[in-house]
Amino acid sequence: MRILVSNDDGYNAPGLEALVQALKGLGELTVVAPETNCSGASNSLTLNRPLSVRQAANGFYYVNGTPSDCVHIALTGLLDFRPDLVVSGINNGANMGDDTLYSGTVAAATEGYLFGIPAIAFSLVQKGWEHLDSAARIARKLVEQQTVSPLAGNILLNVNIPAVPYEAIQGIRVTRLGKRHPSEPVVKSSTPYGDPVYWIGPVGRVSDSADDTDFGAIEQLAVSVTPLRLDLTHYEQLSLVRNWAGPLCVNQ
Ligand code: MN
Repeated sequence: MRILVSNDDGYNAPGLEALVQALKGLGELTVVAPETNCSGASNSLTLNRPLSVRQAANGFYYVNGTPSDCVHIALTGLLDFRPDLVVSGINNGANMGDDTLYSGTVAAATEGYLFGIPAIAFSLVQKGWEHLDSAARIARKLVEQQTVSPLAGNILLNVNIPAVPYEAIQGIRVTRLGKRHPSEPVVKSSTPYGDPVYWIGPVGRVSDSADDTDFGAIEQLAVSVTPLRLDLTHYEQLSLVRNWAGPLCVNQ
């Protein structure tokens, strides 16, 4: 079992080190992670400059690019083998509901998934690394399960782990993504020169935390495991939009 490990918090992040330590013995681990914190990078690739890959003293490769860059480079030229699994994390903070679209942690896993490799993203739901050890133990259990009994087909799992002592975790729930209200307003400020600047504001309040959602699982101190897919097509709206386009549409 060859496992490619990445993250979005950067190659020095405690969550990455914890994940690597937790997975020791389950396979051959290769780390390719961003040089700096790229949280919120989503699936972006760097196309306007070349990227450098360097190796830290602990063996981790790091790239002056995004999480997607890291996994993309690893799979398309850096590694001389094809990993059996891509794992990402452990992220400093939750990646649930609509937030998964912005997540660099999920994006690193997604890049593996796009290349047909099973992939799992791990996030510790509270920022600050408290109870990171619980998340690492859960990550090991799930990766172990994938080595013992691999899920068939192309899989992308988004795993969120409550920040509580391991013994307090109320099992694993397989969930759908919940929903949030729109984000809070931007925070307006100004530079010392008086030019206006804007900080992206906080996330919106949770609007769907039903029992079967990721938010619902975490509220109940359970681990949330959501299988994701990437086909954004809204199939139910195909005929609606064909009708809307009317005679302009040639595939009525
Ligand atoms: Mn992050």
